[in-house]
Amino acid sequence: MKSSFDLIVIGAGSGGLAAAKKAASYGASVAIVEGDLVGGTCVIRGCVPKKLLVCGSSLLESFLSATSYGFDFDNIKIKSEVLLANIRKEVQRLNELHENFLNKANVELFKGWGEFRNSNCVEVKDRKNGETLNELYGERILIAVGGRPKRPSIEGASLGWTSDDMFLLKSFPKKITIVGAGYIACEFACILHGLGVEVTQLVRGDRILRGFDFELSSALTEAMKNKGVNISFGEQISSLKGTPGSLIIKTNAGKEFDSNGLLFATGREPFLDGLKLEQVGIEILENKIKVDSEGKTNISNIFAIGDVTDRINLTPVAIDEGRKFADRNYGESDHKVNYNFVPYAVFSQPEIASVGMTEEKAIQSMGKDNIKVYRSIFRPLSKSLPKTGSKCILKLIVDKNNNKVLGCHMIGDNASEIIQMASISLMLGAKKSDFDNTMALHPTIAEEFVTMR
Ligand code: NDP
Repeated sequence: MKSSFDLIVIGAGSGGLAAAKKAASYGASVAIVEGDLVGGTCVIRGCVPKKLLVCGSSLLESFLSATSYGFDFDNIKIKSEVLLANIRKEVQRLNELHENFLNKANVELFKGWGEFRNSNCVEVKDRKNGETLNELYGERILIAVGGRPKRPSIEGASLGWTSDDMFLLKSFPKKITIVGAGYIACEFACILHGLGVEVTQLVRGDRILRGFDFELSSALTEAMKNKGVNISFGEQISSLKGTPGSLIIKTNAGKEFDSNGLLFATGREPFLDGLKLEQVGIEILENKIKVDSEGKTNISNIFAIGDVTDRINLTPVAIDEGRKFADRNYGESDHKVNYNFVPYAVFSQPEIASVGMTEEKAIQSMGKDNIKVYRSIFRPLSKSLPKTGSKCILKLIVDKNNNKVLGCHMIGDNASEIIQMASISLMLGAKKSDFDNTMALHPTIAEEFVTMR
């Protein structure tokens, strides 16, 4: 079947959906092509189900401290199969919700694999047999196919899971090994530990969360170790043998141990397979689609947003890129995405969140003598009765020359919620004196940001 549209979006993830709905709201005729469930990584196998796992898993610490608040519990057990099944139901609900939103927005959904035939034509193919289901013609085409997890090329790598697989498991294993030290490795190490799994995390370097403030990542390492996560540094996995559920893991240093499962959390890469970008000559740089500041590729009517590009790979960034793409091309605004002061969070237990320059970055770019670091380290009130749990660390990095706050970093309860609000101040160019002039809200964790002297 042949059809023509003003815009064809390939990929119905967060960025693609945002762009498609916004373009349609301006009156454009829009088709969206999706080979999997509508919702993409964030909704189906990323942020949303992960955060639900975090919510479930973090209950362990609440249960453990509940006795000091007078509660009496017996026999606390977690049935991970119930949690996983409930999360799958919620994901299914969200998938249907997003399909309905498309319908209401007048965006036509084509289920199948998008493949370029030329710069104005996308064929929609059956994922299984490769049969062409539709032939779509578009004045503009937006590539928003996102990314997928990477596995290292070692013997037996296919025996390991990636984060995609974790949400499809019926239940979690008794013992798991996690390879990596980034967002996914640290988040899953905490989630699984909280759900009663014995976790070993293998880190090839000497620290976790490279790029985050060193003091915070050290504090998280200590907190995770204190809880019982076995984090091992300088470990590079060399092979994986055995059968699902019973694996033998070998490291470069010759160590050998068993595990019921292994999660590779070793980064993600753009999902460019099958798009046939070579058919239209789209420029690729280090496996990512090269785009200009407006998301345009080297082909004038083809654009790309989100994790397929060489920019920041985060859901809110992809959504903003999608909306601004639609505004610029179908609306009346020429707004560009603001990549300054993007806040980051790791949903570990405790959480880490950050906006602006870290102390290390500030020293590197401005010199130690030009910055001042303020910090507050304390046990939050909620932990004063149980006398367990890690301390909060809050840090402000300030430019000594003009008193501007360059960075705001935190580890502790609700760090992500607090840093989201702090990012507004940094966007507005707040000075340390503005933080000082702000009245504290007592007793909170966040008040420490305005009382540091
Ligand atoms: P990251 O890029 O954060 O981390 C990858 C980790 O894998 C690093 O610790 C890296 O080590 C390690 N690594 C890479 N290759 C190997 C290898 N061959 N052997 C051993 N270790 C290896 O990737 P993630 O997979 O954790 O997350 C991917 C992306 O997903 C993030 O960058 C982020 O954009 C997004 N994300 C965001 C989340 C959030 O906002 N909360 C949550 C989850 C994902 P080294 O440090 O030495 O390089």
